[in-house]
Amino acid sequence: MAIHKEIFSDEALRHVREGSAKPPGQLSADEIPPMAASWANTEKMPVGGWKENRPRYLRGLSPCLAHCPVGNDVEGFVSTVREGDVESAARLLAAETPLPATCGRVCYHPCESGCNRVQLDGSVGIRAIERYLGDLPYFDSANIWSQARPATGKNIAIAGSGPGGLASAWALSLLGHKVEIFERKPEPGGLLLYGIPAYRLPKDILSKEIGRIKDMGVRINCGVNVGEAKELSKLLESYDSVFVATGAAKSRDINIKGDNNKAVYSAIEYLSEATSGNIPETGRECIIIGGGNSAVDAARSAKRSGANVTIVYRRTRAEMPAYETEIDDALKEGIQLEELAIPLELIVENGSLTGMKCLKTKLGEPDDSGRRSPIPVPGSDFVIPASSMINALGEIIDKEELTKNSDFQNALSELNHWGSSNIQGLFAGGDFVGGDRTVAHAIGGGKRAAMAIDRFLLGKSANPLESYIVGGGPASLAGYLKNGESDVLAEGIKTIQYKDLNPAYFPNVEREELAKVLDQKPDNSFREVESGYTPEEAKAEANRCFSCGRCTNCGLCQIFCPEGAAVHRDPQSKELMIFDSHCKGCGICVEECPRCALVMEPVNKESDVVKTETQ
Ligand SMILES: Cc1cc2nc3c(=O)[nH]c(=O)nc-3n(C[C@H](O)[C@H](O)[C@H](O)COP(=O)(O)OP(=O)(O)OC[C@H]3O[C@@H](n4cnc5c(N)ncnc54)[C@H](O)[C@@H]3O)c2cc1C
Repeated sequence: MAIHKEIFSDEALRHVREGSAKPPGQLSADEIPPMAASWANTEKMPVGGWKENRPRYLRGLSPCLAHCPVGNDVEGFVSTVREGDVESAARLLAAETPLPATCGRVCYHPCESGCNRVQLDGSVGIRAIERYLGDLPYFDSANIWSQARPATGKNIAIAGSGPGGLASAWALSLLGHKVEIFERKPEPGGLLLYGIPAYRLPKDILSKEIGRIKDMGVRINCGVNVGEAKELSKLLESYDSVFVATGAAKSRDINIKGDNNKAVYSAIEYLSEATSGNIPETGRECIIIGGGNSAVDAARSAKRSGANVTIVYRRTRAEMPAYETEIDDALKEGIQLEELAIPLELIVENGSLTGMKCLKTKLGEPDDSGRRSPIPVPGSDFVIPASSMINALGEIIDKEELTKNSDFQNALSELNHWGSSNIQGLFAGGDFVGGDRTVAHAIGGGKRAAMAIDRFLLGKSANPLESYIVGGGPASLAGYLKNGESDVLAEGIKTIQYKDLNPAYFPNVEREELAKVLDQKPDNSFREVESGYTPEEAKAEANRCFSCGRCTNCGLCQIFCPEGAAVHRDPQSKELMIFDSHCKGCGICVEECPRCALVMEPVNKESDVVKTETQ
């Protein structure tokens, strides 16, 4: 695609990549590619008015943002780090999320899967850049989140203080409402605290993030079970609206002989105890059943308590739903993986677990999940030594306690995209409503519900919420607060794909990987295993971002315009690049734009007598 790349000096190419272009008049001789131009002719004959097509700056949507369930302006904060303004980058991030340091550590980063750089030399390390920003002191400043509106006098109750409840509380506070959270556990945080182990998400990081939400005036009442101590119906009577975000943390039963032994735990129970500092006794040989993230977290936690740990999984590693790098790290830490095996029964002698009888499986045709199904192999049973077993077969939603009233049960089973139920004032989000179970999805659901609650409380039904959805994906709270005044909320905005870019301007650059503290001694240490980026690493990684779809002022269109017709404008302007009357519609600028931020479009000769500004 790039037809002129080879005529650039390395220095000029760096300007193009980093968007730090100088106006053509200030370029040194070796920064300007040789080309024939007659300025005098151009000046005297503004024949641009005869053209059929013209270039126009058109902001495209970067796929990282389109893929972020939270709705973070990923390209925005990454490129602002690249430009060296980390405070503004932190503020851009803060505009869409209350939990940047948390997501910067544990998010499964769908943004990185969507990143166009995957097709060149590996995605940009977005999660680590988010972590870098989330750990900066700017987030501690009192004005990082100031209430966007005067107090409305409305009161909202939230059941559950996981990421869904916290995100909704944060967004509602920004919108001027008063929020009270009811949490049944002794401390807030949901699975961020009671599920995800501290070696991935240190407790002090989480409590700092929750502390900031409390500082906004959100009251968190711990030890209150909604459904028991506080009836949902009573909450609906006493508050203007109720948001349910009680998660899905009930363990699936394993149902094998011996599963009532005291050395049998559920992953959630085990991890919850471990995070409270009372690591349950596992003995020497601990077996984990399952292949998901809870299984790997339980295994790595048990390993830290000194046990030999084996994960037993009925398919192969390739089919394990757990996150790839988590499995890698677990294996590096010395955890064994017994693939293609299903548990048959636990062997108990004198009340103590001594082993688990298993049956081998082989892989058959794909099942509903798309993965090849495990088929038991008759007569292949074998025994693994076991002094304890952790059941990590997955977690399910438990609605019973919360919704003894069947009206509520029905209402909470039929929610729209915004978490609205058919009972006035009742909303829900996060794991509780099904769908993807991740921290980012829970935050996104909390934000969406906050926007829907806001509209409900203010009695506004016009101006549909759909206009705050970015490119058919996540919702933008920043856009909502600005009544839709946001580039990324433009109707019909196109998500930029790799094929739209001009990648020849971006040389291969290796991704900055995070340092890891692995192979720890079994010393009960839950210290964090990954270290974050230094400022230099964060900037270097941000430099890899293509800034898909956005003009970074790289200057290529100016350099290549044979007529000198591309005029830079105020960076705040939506039409960052405009083209004066000398433009003859040749399209070289569009062809050369590295980021697909320009389009050619027909000139409407009657109404649109091309922008006729002259330099
Ligand atoms: C072991 C494990 C590891 C995970 N690791 C990751 C990861 O690395 N990255 C990722 O993106 N996702 C991960 N997840 C998934 C992620 O944690 C969840 O998707 C997310 O926490 C859901 O948020 P939530 O707010 O909906 O629910 P939760 O985090 O479950 O919070 C719900 C809260 O409601 C409270 N509650 C429940 N019932 C009541 C009641 N009746 N009254 C009052 N309070 C109540 C609970 O005590 C809890 O505090 C993991 C899950 C598990 C189990």
